[in-house]
Amino acid sequence: MKIDKPFNTLTKNEYLLYIPEHKKYSDFNTLGLYRSLLENEKLSIEQKIEVRDIAHQNFFKTFEFLQLKDPRTYLEVSTLGQEMTVADERQAWEDIRTNQEKIIKEKKLNHRNFGQYSKHNCGYEDCPMNGIMIKEGSWMAEWHMRFDSDSNEYAKQEKSERRKKDRKNKHQIINENLELD
Ligand SMILES: [Zn+2]
Repeated sequence: MKIDKPFNTLTKNEYLLYIPEHKKYSDFNTLGLYRSLLENEKLSIEQKIEVRDIAHQNFFKTFEFLQLKDPRTYLEVSTLGQEMTVADERQAWEDIRTNQEKIIKEKKLNHRNFGQYSKHNCGYEDCPMNGIMIKEGSWMAEWHMRFDSDSNEYAKQEKSERRKKDRKNKHQIINENLELD
């Protein structure tokens, strides 16, 4: 059986229908489900939280893995409806950094192949995402947080210099043995 429409167009009742029966649908994608909560315009924030919590009852382990696979989505889904201060956001990234290391350690034991990661490097020394593992080539590798000083010309120039240097020295942090269950 197939759901046969994008998750981000589902109503709350449809989510609640599909999630517990997910094994019956060949096109059910757990990561897609979580990502859709950020895009779905049919749901109020309260409904999104409700759907997320039901999803967690079914897929919490997979959700935890999003910290490595797509940390921005993980953060946004985790904090749906919450007012985040800069300090909160910094702490959240710190936690993700710690959890990424845990996940990597655990998964390495399983000797599976997950793909290539490198560390986030936007060029700003005080970026809360520094040291976060990002899938190579993803938009998040050099993506930049909203409260960073984008208007600062010096920082911009420094960033572009760093980018040039990074391209030269690009190295892989992880290249082995990680996979989603
Ligand atoms: Zn950054």
